Amino acid sequence: MRLAAEIAAARAVAGLSRLVGAGAGMTVPGKLLSKLDPGAIDKLAARLPAGTAVVSATNGKTTTSAMAAEILRPRFRLAHNRSGANLVSGVASTLLASDGAELGLLEVDEGALPEVMRRVRPRAVLLGNLFRDQLDRYGELELIAERWRAAVDALPQTTTVVLNADDPQVGSLGSGVHYGLDDPSVARPSLQHAADSKYCVRCGTPYDYAAAYVGHLGDYRCPKCGHARPHLQVAARAIELHGLERAAFDLVTPDGTRRVELALPGLYNVYNALGAAALARALGATLDEIVVGLGRFSAAFGRFERIPVDGKHLLLLLIKNPAGANEAIRTLVEGRPPRVVVVALNDAIADGRDVSWIWDVDFEPLLDGLQRVVATGGRAAELALRFKYGGLDDDAIDVEPELERALDRGLALTSAGEELVVLPTYTAMLAFQREEVLGARSMTRIRVGHLYPDYLNIYADRGNIAVFARRAAWRGHELVVDGLGLDEAIVPGAHDLYYVGGGQDREQFLVAENLAAKAAPLIEAVSAGAALLAVCGGYQLLGRGYRGFHGEDMPGVGLFPLETVAGDTRMIGDVLLETELGPVAGFENHAGRTKLDAGATPLGRVVAGFGNDGESGFEGCRLQRAIGTYLHGPLLPRNPQLADWLLAQALGHRTGGEPTELAPLPDELETQARRVSAERAHARGGRS
Ligand code: GLN
Repeated sequence: MRLAAEIAAARAVAGLSRLVGAGAGMTVPGKLLSKLDPGAIDKLAARLPAGTAVVSATNGKTTTSAMAAEILRPRFRLAHNRSGANLVSGVASTLLASDGAELGLLEVDEGALPEVMRRVRPRAVLLGNLFRDQLDRYGELELIAERWRAAVDALPQTTTVVLNADDPQVGSLGSGVHYGLDDPSVARPSLQHAADSKYCVRCGTPYDYAAAYVGHLGDYRCPKCGHARPHLQVAARAIELHGLERAAFDLVTPDGTRRVELALPGLYNVYNALGAAALARALGATLDEIVVGLGRFSAAFGRFERIPVDGKHLLLLLIKNPAGANEAIRTLVEGRPPRVVVVALNDAIADGRDVSWIWDVDFEPLLDGLQRVVATGGRAAELALRFKYGGLDDDAIDVEPELERALDRGLALTSAGEELVVLPTYTAMLAFQREEVLGARSMTRIRVGHLYPDYLNIYADRGNIAVFARRAAWRGHELVVDGLGLDEAIVPGAHDLYYVGGGQDREQFLVAENLAAKAAPLIEAVSAGAALLAVCGGYQLLGRGYRGFHGEDMPGVGLFPLETVAGDTRMIGDVLLETELGPVAGFENHAGRTKLDAGATPLGRVVAGFGNDGESGFEGCRLQRAIGTYLHGPLLPRNPQLADWLLAQALGHRTGGEPTELAPLPDELETQARRVSAERAHARGGRS
């Protein structure tokens, strides 16, 4: 079969396996492709015009490659296995699915690295560290190091090899770009128990460490044969660690020194960022691109994640081997030492079947101030022993193998506003992130009161509701919409978000009095922190009143400080606004001219279009958590930042506090639609 036909066949399988829900179609097509023709990966990689970079390490390869992707994305279209499918089949699937990509950026499993390197013939290789991990699967550390050495030796001269000099095994793999930490002020006083490569790789004498940073990573020298950390071409100096929140360092390179600010905590993330910087630089990124890319990067897929649950927060930190777990613990203890922790130990293949590693983790620093550990997962009982023999009293240890129940137990012991620390192994982490376990707990029900849906619904108001519902659901929240018609009362506190749509004069007339009679509870609800969005006809009726086209006077609610009178002409066209929440684009179609009272806050300034009255240059009105606007079309699909602002306010109302921060969503389509709408406003909107 020719490559094209093989790709078609494998893609068809990808579609099929997505349909049947088999692992999101990620690795099945790759497996099929490498069965059809083992040379296919080689050919797919060879098609990438900017070549391929591979990243491997025991710890941090997912985060490091995601950081490198963030830096390189503006420069290259990437084929990047972000989902962590890092065996040969995962690499094949990624290459297969990345039509039109320019650069391959592949995270690769330590064991699979030699084969992947042989096949993709990388342009650059980043090797981060080798720690003891899953010895049941990999055998011993030296074995991997030997296989890596042979693979590096077989690379052509043209490949740039970027090596962590602080790891004696990795640093000595060859000549290349060496990176490492150069700030003894953040070093550890001594090597940890679990330090893996503490004997000279040449003569076996214990190294002297001028600085030990993470596990055996540091500034080492052999007192006997002189083998020492290579000279650093790329280094991190002046490192600042800000507890559990963030870190910063000077990135020192031959091209200059720049300060890097990271939204991730811990020294191990400084290593990840430094490796990503050195790799990106080898691939042509400028220092500016590196600093901006790393600054923009935030947590990698739950390896460090905060999840809101019932007014509390879960802080999820992956642990999978002694070195990584020690760093997670060190970061925790230096941040806010927890009172309660849930530790989850599973022993599936992806966790490592051999659970002995927990005895090599330094859990002890955690015990100071720790009142309770909830041990969970398939090997909860052994974990409990580890804590017992670490010095914790029996009655401070709960054994609850069921993850869900363990989580409930932990949450019950956590007070409101406090953070519950959860340390899971790999498969336990995935389980925690699944809807069934977390979804039900972290989900907040946002209650929407939709006023007069049968009357005020022109110009696609249901589009706005659909956007609220989906964007809430994508963050794990549920939107419950109650229609509030003529016969339904408004009960302050019962809804977190009110929505009032647009209407023709006639329908507005039919509801105006009914609505005005509900003014008091609606105003009370908004002053108590409920969010509100009113569009066009609804916006007009939330002011003091609206005189329609035929002179009919309609009473208003008096929530917004404004008044509206219809004019002889309609103001129709695309509108573009500049608002505090960024540019907002929509369509307007109204006869009403709205005058804001002096001192009232408009939603935004009109860049193109008519706005409130075609004269003032302003559009809409804002008051507390309420927004009124003439923009429809509908408003929210192409202005998702408004939807998110309102949802965040509604969640804040629901939980009785500040607006909840919402995870960003990929809004490329929305941005594109807003751009086109903005262009129309400029080109043929009303006044501009
Ligand atoms: N009937 C009102 C007007 O013409 C509002 C129209 C609308 O909701 N689009 O001003």
